[in-house]
Amino acid sequence: MNAERAVSKKSGRNFVLPGDLLATIEEFEAGEGSTTIGETIVASIMGEVNPDMANRIMSVRPAREVGRIPHEGDIIVGNVESASSSVAQVSIKSINDVESHKEFSAMLSMREDRGRRSALALKAGDVLRAKVMSTTNSIYQLGLDCENCGVIYTVCSVCGGSVVALGQDRIKCRECGTVDERLLSADFVTYSRAH
Ligand SMILES: [Zn+2]
Repeated sequence: MNAERAVSKKSGRNFVLPGDLLATIEEFEAGEGSTTIGETIVASIMGEVNPDMANRIMSVRPAREVGRIPHEGDIIVGNVESASSSVAQVSIKSINDVESHKEFSAMLSMREDRGRRSALALKAGDVLRAKVMSTTNSIYQLGLDCENCGVIYTVCSVCGGSVVALGQDRIKCRECGTVDERLLSADFVTYSRAH
């Protein structure tokens, strides 16, 4: 066991290998990607240390997902940086539910989605779930033809207030009552109706 390697020197990130010491059982419980051996908790997989300080659970995120580039078929969550009638620019924040710190920039063609060409269907600042359709020439093309893809977080574009879904593609502001168009994800609509 190599305790020194538990906190790696690699670019400030805490990468560990199976068997690396993470903590003692007095400090933490073993979570995903870690296991208890005697008085200690060690990594059971290669990855990034992810301690849950509040609940004192020590986990390791799989390394294969950390910092990797988007592949065709991946589900990403990203911020809409800009949106025109033809294309939206999206900054990728997570890939397959694993946080991405690389700020990959992706494009969503507005012309293909659900047969609409509305410039209002996405707004800068929206958070979007989408599928990577193509990675040709390192240009990440997104599509919304997947489960729960679409806008998962948005606010009123007039006053910044919180909104409710009126349907799959329409929102209403709780504050000022403005009705606007959005390409909403199915889970946003479900959540909105339940609250
Ligand atoms: Zn409003």
